[in-house]
Amino acid sequence: MSENVRVRFAPSPTGFLHIGGARTALFNWLYARQSNGVFILRIEDTDRERSTDEYIDAILQGMKWLGLECDEGPFRQTDRFDIYKKNVEKLLNEGKAYWCYCSPEELETNRKEAMKLGRALKYSGKCRDLKEPVPGVEPVVRFKMPLQGSTYVEDMVKGNVVFENEQLDDLIIQRSDGTPTYNLTVVVDDVDMGITHIIRGDDHLNNTPRQVQLYDALGFDMPKFAHLPMILGSDKARLSKRHGATSVMAYYDMGYLPEALVNYLVRLGWSYGDQEVFSKEELIKYFSFNNVGKAAAVFNPEKLLWLNQQYIINSSNERLAELVIPFLIKDGTIFENQHIDMTWLAKAVSTLKERSKTLVELATSLRYYLAEEVEFDEKARNKFLNENSRALLTELKDGLAAMDNFSEEEIEKLFKAIVERHEVKLGKLAQPVRVALTGGTQSPGIFEVIDVIGKDNTLKRLKKSIDSI
Ligand code: GLU
Repeated sequence: MSENVRVRFAPSPTGFLHIGGARTALFNWLYARQSNGVFILRIEDTDRERSTDEYIDAILQGMKWLGLECDEGPFRQTDRFDIYKKNVEKLLNEGKAYWCYCSPEELETNRKEAMKLGRALKYSGKCRDLKEPVPGVEPVVRFKMPLQGSTYVEDMVKGNVVFENEQLDDLIIQRSDGTPTYNLTVVVDDVDMGITHIIRGDDHLNNTPRQVQLYDALGFDMPKFAHLPMILGSDKARLSKRHGATSVMAYYDMGYLPEALVNYLVRLGWSYGDQEVFSKEELIKYFSFNNVGKAAAVFNPEKLLWLNQQYIINSSNERLAELVIPFLIKDGTIFENQHIDMTWLAKAVSTLKERSKTLVELATSLRYYLAEEVEFDEKARNKFLNENSRALLTELKDGLAAMDNFSEEEIEKLFKAIVERHEVKLGKLAQPVRVALTGGTQSPGIFEVIDVIGKDNTLKRLKKSIDSI
């Protein structure tokens, strides 16, 4: 690729990294990786009241978890006020912007008037040709939008979008306290940072003609634009907390793998034939704006859960063992810094991963391998640990105790011999054993379970159950 692609993710740190933001970051990241370009992170923190350092950290944490680390930045807009000021002055000096002294009350009256008449709110232009400052008023700076004609936005997703200039307001580029506003800072930064492609949610499409006019007025080259379709909830309303978790790190807490979320996010607006599961390498290779849809995407938590399960099944036991540790600690199954035999834990995981949709589920199931005491489901205990099973359980315990070569095959042989001798079905022995060892009636294959729990622990648990009958 000849052009040096430079893209950016520009979140406002007024909240956690959410699904929509993460999708924008991901598309930028993919495009950068695909083009051997540069991915820049810019924190748009000029709204000082709503921006916090905690949210900046949370955004960085979310991006790191998803593996979307930036090549340059994070830059903060609050460190860059000088450069915005210079550009505002340039526009003022060239007569492309003007001081506006209208009072908030006056503007409010205009707003109400526009509402009453059902018209789009538009500044009257009253201060455009003022010759003298108005004493005692801290003015704002407004940009002179062209009054006629059209502004064209060429968009890699939406195609050509035309805006009538008479609909565009003389926008405020500097507030009365001297701070710059979004449309100005974004243009100045994108130019200063050499951004070649602006990839963002289409909730910004309405800002784009204003920004295009600012590019023109400042004599800057235009970048390319790609506006991504909105993400909606199942009821077709804009995705919000009502539809479930929207913060990226909430998915960490719920036991999702980052690559499952990445895979899910990329499909919110992009497709590649019928393929659903993509490795990161495939995504980098196949990603293209030609396959980004114009229509809004619908967030489907069930599909995300399904994908997560696919990723769990296909992850190595060793990796899952590592990933599940924080969840085991959180559950109180193990304590922090407890020594765990990771080879053993990987083996335990191997018996459970097919039945775990999340790491939380995996951790819950691992409890019965790890906990000191079996936690019994009372109904299961009453049904299976009673006089009917006592003899079978005792025979099994003795057989296991005498076993030299403690392996799945030997355990299976022993089970078969016992049930044949008693002329009962395997379940007559397997279910009581399952309850004795795991506390409940559902677990992986009983031979595997015994193999994972190990000889000593199995004997201990069997004895305890037999004694309790
Ligand atoms: N800071 C803006 C936001 O968080 C993004 C601006 C942009 O991408 O141009 O919505």
